[in-house]
Amino acid sequence: MSKTNIAVLGAQWGDEGKGKIVDMLTPHFSAVARYQGGHNAGHTVYVKGTKFVLHLIPSGILHPGVTCVIGNGVVIDPQALFAEIDELGRAGIGVDGRLLVSEKAHIILPYHRELDVLSEARRGERKIGTTSRGIGPAYEDKIGRRGIRVCDLLGDRDALAEEVRENVSARNRIIKDSTLDWKPVFDQIVAAGERMRPWVTDASLALHRLMADGKNVMFEGAQATLLDIDHGTYPFVTSSNASVGGVCTGLGVPPRAIGGVLGVAKAYTTRVGEGPLPTELSGELADRLRESGQEYGASTGRPRRCGWFDAVVVRYSARINGLDALALTKLDVLDGLSEVLICTGYRTNGGTLNEFPADLRCLAGAEPIYERMPGWSSPTRGVTRFEDLPEEARRYVRRLEEVTGVDCAIISTGSDRTETILETGSVVERWLAAR
Ligand code: GDP
Repeated sequence: MSKTNIAVLGAQWGDEGKGKIVDMLTPHFSAVARYQGGHNAGHTVYVKGTKFVLHLIPSGILHPGVTCVIGNGVVIDPQALFAEIDELGRAGIGVDGRLLVSEKAHIILPYHRELDVLSEARRGERKIGTTSRGIGPAYEDKIGRRGIRVCDLLGDRDALAEEVRENVSARNRIIKDSTLDWKPVFDQIVAAGERMRPWVTDASLALHRLMADGKNVMFEGAQATLLDIDHGTYPFVTSSNASVGGVCTGLGVPPRAIGGVLGVAKAYTTRVGEGPLPTELSGELADRLRESGQEYGASTGRPRRCGWFDAVVVRYSARINGLDALALTKLDVLDGLSEVLICTGYRTNGGTLNEFPADLRCLAGAEPIYERMPGWSSPTRGVTRFEDLPEEARRYVRRLEEVTGVDCAIISTGSDRTETILETGSVVERWLAAR
C-alpha cells in the first residue's frame, strides 16, 4: 500500500487545536505543507511543557528532519517569518535545508497593515474583526493582479522598483494626504528577498518530487471552513480558501494527491471576531468554557466567543471538505459540567433548518434546537484510551458522531501531544499504517 497524504483542516471557526493534531501526526509524515492564510493564524503547540506559537511555518518544524513547505496560497510578511525563524533558532530548532518557500507566494507589504486598519475603521459597526496584519489587503492586491510575489523580489530589480512605485502611488491615492515614499519599501523588501533566497523554490515541484519518491505529505490548513472566503460566513471570513479546495490551488498539487481529509473540531464551538454564532453562550457558562479552555486568541489575545457544539456547522464542513474523520479536541474542557448540549438543527421563522444557510440574516435569526445529555464528573483530562473515558463522555462522543455523520478517529484530552486517544481500527490508524 502506498503512503497516504492527508489534509488536516478546521471544521468550525478556527482555533480548534489544529496545531496540536498536526504536531502529533507529523512523525508519520515526511513533509508538512501550509496552503493558505498568513501570520494571522496562530498554532499553539506544547512539547514537554514548552510552548511554541507558530504563525506561518507549519508546526511540523518542531520535528527534526521534516520538510516544511509554505505554499503559493500563503501570503508572507517577511518580518513575521524572520521573527518566527529567529525564535525557533533560539530554541535550538534550525530551518535551513528543510524550509521551502514557494516562489509564487505573495508578499505582505509594509503598508498593507495600515490599509487593513483603515478598512476596518471605515466599516465601523460592520467591521469584520480582522487581526489587522495586512493579510486581507495583500490578498486584494493578489486578486487585483498587482501583488508582489517572492520570485519578484529575486528577479529584475528595475521591474520590481517599477511595481513598488506603482503600488505605493495607488496606496497614496487611497489614503488621504499620504505621501509614502516608495524607496524605503523597495529597500526593505529587497533585503527581505535576500534573506529568504536560500529557502525559495518551486514548492509544487518539490512536493511532486517528494510524493513521487514515495514520501507522504500532510497538508495543513489555517483558520477554518466557516472562515473560508467562499464557503464561510461571508463577509465575516478570512481572505483565502481554508477548506480543502485550497490545498490544490495553494500548493499546486492535484486533487488525487489528497488521500484523506481530517477535520479538526472542538467538543464545543468558539469564534473570534464578528458574525453570527447560533450556539453562543453568555454569562457564567461562557466564562467557564472560556477560562477552562483558555479561549483567548493565540495571535491577538482576544477573548473567544464560546457556545455548545453545533452539528449543523460540522455536517456542513463534512460536506464541503469530504471529511473522512474528525479529530475532536478539548473534550476535557467540558469536564465537570452537569449537562452538555448539542445543537442538531435551527429553528427559524420559516420552520426548521438542517443545512447551514448562506444568508447571515437567516443565521442570525436561527435558534438552536438542542439535545441535552448528562455531563460527567470524573476528569477526561489526559485519558489516552476511549474505554477509560467516563461513560457519559463516551456517549457524548458517540452522539456527536451520529449527528455529524463523521467518526471521531482522534480525541484530544489535553494540550500535550501525549494527551490523545487514537481510536483503534479508525481510518487515521489505517492512514498511518499504510506503507
Ligand atoms: P489552532 O489554530 O487550530 O491550532 O488552535 P490554537 O492553537 O489557536 O488553539 C488551540 C489551543 O487549545 C492551544 O492552546 C492548544 O494547546 C489547546 N488544546 C489543543 N487541544 C487541546 C485539548 O484537547 N485540551 C485542552 N485543554 N487544550 C487543548
